[in-house]
Amino acid sequence: MKNIFGITLKDLEDFFIENKDKKFRATQIFEFLYKKRIFDLDKMTNIGNNNKELLRENFDFSFIKIKSKQEDKDVKKYLFELKDGNFIESVLMYHDYGISICVSSQVGCNMGCKFCESGRLKKVRNLEAYEIVEQILLIEKDIKERISHVVVMGIGEPFDNYENLKDFIKIINCNKGIDIGARHITISTCGLIPGIKRFMEDFNEINLAISLHAPNDTIRNKIMPINKVYNIKELINILKEYEKKTKRRITFEYIMLENINDSNECAIELAKLVKDLNCYINLIPYNETENIEFKRSKKVQILSFYDILKKNNINVTIRKEFGRKVDAACGQLRANQMGRK
Ligand code: SF4
Repeated sequence: MKNIFGITLKDLEDFFIENKDKKFRATQIFEFLYKKRIFDLDKMTNIGNNNKELLRENFDFSFIKIKSKQEDKDVKKYLFELKDGNFIESVLMYHDYGISICVSSQVGCNMGCKFCESGRLKKVRNLEAYEIVEQILLIEKDIKERISHVVVMGIGEPFDNYENLKDFIKIINCNKGIDIGARHITISTCGLIPGIKRFMEDFNEINLAISLHAPNDTIRNKIMPINKVYNIKELINILKEYEKKTKRRITFEYIMLENINDSNECAIELAKLVKDLNCYINLIPYNETENIEFKRSKKVQILSFYDILKKNNINVTIRKEFGRKVDAACGQLRANQMGRK
């Protein structure tokens, strides 16, 4: 039985039409679920008993569970237990522009990025759309506030779970649904080109972020195995097409790893690589973990790298750090409940 929180408005409309009812019934249900946040069918006052019965027979209304929560001043990390006993994590961050959440899209990840704590657990399975949606609903319930920005950058490669990602985006972006604006939703990929192609056809207003982390194939092959399948040239070519089609600015994520990808030469090479794209580079100070040998670049080197990009007229920022105390920083999410620590 499908979970109701993974059903798009269109699919629910089709469901009611197939069951000889009116299409607008789907909007009524969506308004209860996502506007009024009433999840109990018995409390949906203007829905008839027949409809309630029909929904009960066809959809599961249950939730995943918040297993634990760790907090630091501007960040909260949530560990969720899924119904099959697997675990995933999400991170909530308070910014001056709103509240953002970084959600997971898979249990584990097969992409094998060498610096990534999240990917140490190989992919167990894809998350279903409802399991991604419920991360948002449960966290909003916990903080009693609405989330303004969503980033799919937690555990997993979202384009390796495209169908569920697609439904998730439709549900959270729907104005009868959770209603988060397209410009406030970002999907981050390590560079799965078939996924980027589908994404630019399906969603031309949602933000795209690329985990680049290297200015050439020699370095990228060493730290990101996906580069041996889709190399940098192919990646840049598809991004040029993406830019032409969507007119959107692309974000590049670049984790600063000492003596790996942080030299001044790397900065010059990176500037040349992206100079023809409308893009923005986010330099991320690496979060060292006890399980992985990479070191964080020295502050002075991060600043030098930043200056070189700036001098070459590249839009660049150094990411504000969140959540180091609670292991919630970028690349630190992990399923440590599963004995991976
Ligand atoms: S960085 Fe992202 S794509 Fe790479 S292993 Fe980690 S979770 Fe997977």
